[in-house]
Amino acid sequence: MARFTQRRKKLSSAVRRLGADAALITNFTNVTYLTGFTGDDSYLLVGAGAEVMLSDPRYTQQLEEECRGLDVAIRSPSGTTLGLVESVVKKARVTRLAVEAASISLALHDRLAAALPHVTLVPTNGLVERLREIKDRHEVDEIREAIRLAEQAFGVIRAALRPEQTEREIAFELEHQIRRFGGAGCSFPPIVAVGARAALPHAVPTQQRVGDGDLLLIDWGATARLYCSDLTRVLVTGRISPKLERIYGVVLKAQEQAIASIRPGVLMSQVDATARDLIAKAGYSKQFGHGLGHGFGLEIHEAPRLATLSDRPLKAGMVVTVEPGIYLPQWGGVRIEDDVLVTRDGHEVLSSLPKELDHCVVD
Ligand code: ZN
Ligand code: ZN
Repeated sequence: MARFTQRRKKLSSAVRRLGADAALITNFTNVTYLTGFTGDDSYLLVGAGAEVMLSDPRYTQQLEEECRGLDVAIRSPSGTTLGLVESVVKKARVTRLAVEAASISLALHDRLAAALPHVTLVPTNGLVERLREIKDRHEVDEIREAIRLAEQAFGVIRAALRPEQTEREIAFELEHQIRRFGGAGCSFPPIVAVGARAALPHAVPTQQRVGDGDLLLIDWGATARLYCSDLTRVLVTGRISPKLERIYGVVLKAQEQAIASIRPGVLMSQVDATARDLIAKAGYSKQFGHGLGHGFGLEIHEAPRLATLSDRPLKAGMVVTVEPGIYLPQWGGVRIEDDVLVTRDGHEVLSSLPKELDHCVVD
């Protein structure tokens, strides 16, 4: 429980710095981060000396189990969420209430403004997301577990790979194995792409068969309990053409050099540029159209981003993917993705599947 108290304390300070006296957290993932509550449809008020969870009767027991010590306001079966927010905010004597602009609906905002005429609503962006960027020990431990689950599942898939398997069967089997090893499931619908389909960075699995191409790109991740992992590997199921060897070599080198550049203080855009410049020099600048990587944790994509326009420095405790790729329509694509923790004096690559081209050949 102490870690949730700690997180809410940090939020309270951030709210005060904004000149507000409390924040209404309406993003359910942010509520989970701040309280440990795993249900949804619940808000959290933090500040003005109050910490109150606003929920409904379905969650009374779950809140007692997951959020011991936290004040809980449950709306009556005939009451409305708006009515509950109104009474909790009035009771806490809030005058300037921070709201999450990216989460609160325009309808709720307008109804709140009408119901609380003496309260100024202060729109905020990334208030909790900024806190979530820096993972604590518990979060890193669960991310390690999510990576372990993803890698174990991949090992089973790889060992049993057959030419007649379809992309969809492999995606299904990944989910099955992750759950069999004790995970909650996939952290996102896996991307499984045979041959030329790997040119689509977000290919949706089809009935295409493994044996129909020379390579197989798999981008998948596991959710341990609440936290995600995110990995990509290319498996070679046919012959290694000179073109594949060249492109694979460029992507691998770009990934390794970008990872090597990761340490606190380095600009996120600089890490992106390390990989991007190397790929551009090899003549593939237009074939690498996405950012180099992203934070992940409770969600598969969260702040920060390793991208051209991310001009903030990395900080210890951030966990990011590093996933350069080269995509050639009608030919295929290569992306290699690993999960990296920024440490106090550098970085630690949390994922461990081999990635040299020779290791990716399936017999
Ligand atoms: Zn991925
Ligand atoms: Zn990713």
